[in-house]
Amino acid sequence: MAKGNIGVTTENIFPVIKKFLYSDHDIFLREIVSNACDATQKLRTLAQRGEMKEDMGDITVRVSLNKEAGTLTVSDRGIGMTEEEIDKYINQIAFSSANDFLDKYKEDANAIIGHFGLGFYSAFMVSNKVEIITKSWKEGSKAVKWSCDGSPEYSIEDAEKAERGTDIIMYIDDECKEFLEENKIQELLSKYCHFLPVSIAFGKKKEWKDGKQVETEEDNIINNTTPLWTKKPADLKDEDYKQFYRELYPMANEPLFWIHLNVDYPFNLTGVLYFPKVNNQFELQKNKIQLYCNQVFVTDSVEGIVPDFLTLLHGVIDSPDIPLNVSRSYLQSDSNVKKISTYITKKVSDRLQSIFKQDRKEFESKWDDIKIFIHYGMLSQPDYYDKAKSYALLKDTEGKYFTYEEYRDLVKAEQTDKDGNVIYLYAQNRDAQYSYIKAAQDKGYNVLLMDGELDAAMLGMLEEKQEKTRFVRVDSDTVNRLIQKEDANATEVSEDSVLNLIFQTQMPKLNKTEFHVEAQSLGAEAAPITITQSEYMRRMKEMARLQPGMSFYGDMPDMMNIILNTDNAIIKRILSDGETATADALKPIEQELKGLDARRQVIEQDQKDKKWDEISQESKDNLEQTRKDIEAEKAKKSDVVAEYAKGNQTVHQLIDLALLQNGLLQGEALSNFIKRSIDLIK
Ligand code: ADP
Repeated sequence: MAKGNIGVTTENIFPVIKKFLYSDHDIFLREIVSNACDATQKLRTLAQRGEMKEDMGDITVRVSLNKEAGTLTVSDRGIGMTEEEIDKYINQIAFSSANDFLDKYKEDANAIIGHFGLGFYSAFMVSNKVEIITKSWKEGSKAVKWSCDGSPEYSIEDAEKAERGTDIIMYIDDECKEFLEENKIQELLSKYCHFLPVSIAFGKKKEWKDGKQVETEEDNIINNTTPLWTKKPADLKDEDYKQFYRELYPMANEPLFWIHLNVDYPFNLTGVLYFPKVNNQFELQKNKIQLYCNQVFVTDSVEGIVPDFLTLLHGVIDSPDIPLNVSRSYLQSDSNVKKISTYITKKVSDRLQSIFKQDRKEFESKWDDIKIFIHYGMLSQPDYYDKAKSYALLKDTEGKYFTYEEYRDLVKAEQTDKDGNVIYLYAQNRDAQYSYIKAAQDKGYNVLLMDGELDAAMLGMLEEKQEKTRFVRVDSDTVNRLIQKEDANATEVSEDSVLNLIFQTQMPKLNKTEFHVEAQSLGAEAAPITITQSEYMRRMKEMARLQPGMSFYGDMPDMMNIILNTDNAIIKRILSDGETATADALKPIEQELKGLDARRQVIEQDQKDKKWDEISQESKDNLEQTRKDIEAEKAKKSDVVAEYAKGNQTVHQLIDLALLQNGLLQGEALSNFIKRSIDLIK
């Protein structure tokens, strides 16, 4: 028996392996099994070239557990190794400045293993002793056994082995007993080795017999050696793609679309990406794409390799050209990776574009499901916006779809305001905003439905990207003011008119909601009372909810406008009844107000052209007092009107109906409303 030291420059590689690779123990099996596959693939190549004459025989790689002996063995019938080859490939692990490197990448076991070609040595992460029993394919080779117990010392001796190939026998460490569990090994094999190109058997298939599970004669093959992405797209049918999707994600819904990636220059990449059908946004998950390197599973975290918005897709990417032995931050600056990311974006976009062109119906039928991906891409990646703007769709409240261009053409004539802005009217909830939508449609406008997660952000983006475009929600003003075609007339009724006060004083006190009453002439047919909410304030508040820095807006109350239609018969009646009922009480107040107002005007006139220090203190005090008196009189007026309005059932009924329509009538107020309604029809 010969003995020697493994050629490493650091004192002892094994503590290093154990320490730094601790977090990612699982990958040792991938390394050992993929070495076995490599050795088998090499043999296949030799056989193809005719260098190996004899029949290859059964080349299945076999993984087996021996609980009594505490071993996990991976056996292949590949090319095997001679004693010299063991010395060259296994004993000489030469590397320099290992400590520096390990320090830098200690979080990333893949990087360390890739960097040093330490694949085989990862077996020591879980074993206290590893044996290699191997016999080279070369004629007349003798079998050898290499053994190492975790110190830099190994031994090598002749061995008995009838057949060509290699057995790697791992004596599992006491601390890692889980790797002697069948379930654990099965799990690791299906995660890392599911698509390796050589058949891998883990024990025998089992079946139920007389209430017990019994082993059959048949090998339990754990992998699919020719996964879909390795085949030619021309040879594949839709059903094949769906079938493969089910293999990858057994629990998922049927995918919406898929994209077969296949490029060999300037980098090598194959794969299939799927647009998943998610039932709700909570099912949207990053890290569903699996990354492979020559059919060996590497990771399911593809950030940095595919653009952020595409990490929401499902599927696989296989590329030997993605540098895995580097940190994630380095990855993003790698030029190959950048090209890959650009390529994938383009492919996805081209595919969507072609479905849109060839089968618009199909595209429209899936739009609601795919728009979240497309919007996310358009919002996060300017170059993708430019690609997608020709097939991204807008949907109106009637369920019709339009491209951006088509839609502009549709509404341009009717919905351009006096400043030349095209006004895109939209609703966020077809039911809640029904009456506003209806009013806009009756006026000949079209209303979009913007009810997606990202629609609020999208409309902001469209306003920025498309010239002279403004989005206005249907309930942000009364219908004839949504799109201002000419300069609006000034408010017809002053704020402290009896009509305004009748309503203003009766509005409920709601938490974080303020009401502002306004009278407008909207035509006899239009509703007596409507609630609107300014587009600007609402959007600010919506944005504040998403952006922590804007809490100022978030804390502001909702500002609701109560619009009274002075042309409506009910409002007319309320006004005349109200004026009659309060006339006597208001008369002296009005007179007082008139006098105070005249006085105020005189003082203001007098002060108008003077500098602040030229005005006498008396005059200043006088003005202040007059203003206070005016406020006091107004308050009196308001009290008189409030006293009257309190008992006016029609006013309360109207207010409640308007609140109800906007989902603002709740609890006790709602129950009072119902009671009053019943009383009114009794
Ligand atoms: P890498 O696979 O990255 O080269 P490894 O440490 O995993 O690094 O393996 C080192 C070398 O040992 C391999 O390149 C191969 O030549 C040889 N080797 C490992 N496992 C086997 C095997 N099962 N059969 C034949 N040769 C093997």
